[in-house]
Amino acid sequence: MKLLVDTHCHTLASGHAYSTIKEMADYASQIGMKIIGMTDHGPSMPGGPHIYHFGNLRIMPEYISGVRILKGVEANIMNFEGTLDMPDKFLSKLELVIAGFHDGCLVPGSVEENTSAIIGAMKNPLVDIIAHPGNPQFSIDIEKVVDCAIETNTLIEINNSSFGNARRGSEDNCRLIALEAKKKGALLTTGSDSHICFHVGKFDKVLQLFEDLGIDEELVVSSNPQRLIDFLNKKGKKINYGLSTPMV
Ligand SMILES: [Zn+2]
Ligand SMILES: [Zn+2]
Repeated sequence: MKLLVDTHCHTLASGHAYSTIKEMADYASQIGMKIIGMTDHGPSMPGGPHIYHFGNLRIMPEYISGVRILKGVEANIMNFEGTLDMPDKFLSKLELVIAGFHDGCLVPGSVEENTSAIIGAMKNPLVDIIAHPGNPQFSIDIEKVVDCAIETNTLIEINNSSFGNARRGSEDNCRLIALEAKKKGALLTTGSDSHICFHVGKFDKVLQLFEDLGIDEELVVSSNPQRLIDFLNKKGKKINYGLSTPMV
């Protein structure tokens, strides 16, 4: 399986990441990636961008160095109802909306509370992806979350950084989530969660997991750039891809 799309990347704007969008795109281009999501943290993340950052993404070129840049956010789940830290008015202007738990924004609750939060976020039709659901700090009922992902047509992210320094202890949960998705036919996407350009498109751990579990390419929407775009456009986004001439 080749993963030519990275749906989860952070730039300098996130406050604790180290590369510009130009550096991210240049690196992505060098390693042959076709699409990257510019999904900086939502405004409630300590040190994160002001909401104006997202409003002004309209000036961002569609392509930089030949790589399609999806204008997005990794929004924060703020309570157990699943409310995000950005109003729908802003979310609806973006091309890619990820939602996830971050302990700087929400104190983890019980399994029931965390599950209700993540389900609430997925029920927002503007949410496309649920970020790193394997985080053991925010334990969830995996069966219920996978069922809801299918019901709401939300992609479940398998996050490469969850197997490294971030969210320690995620591996077993990621495995269980991927297995449940395989059993039920829930769709997956892959994010590097890169906070520096050199990690864009880094999917070594994710690919190993897919191989170990026999996850078919059919389940992994990010294995095919056009398929990801079609998926997002079906969810109501208006993404040009492959039609416009690269602008930068
Ligand atoms: Zn995150
Ligand atoms: Zn992230």
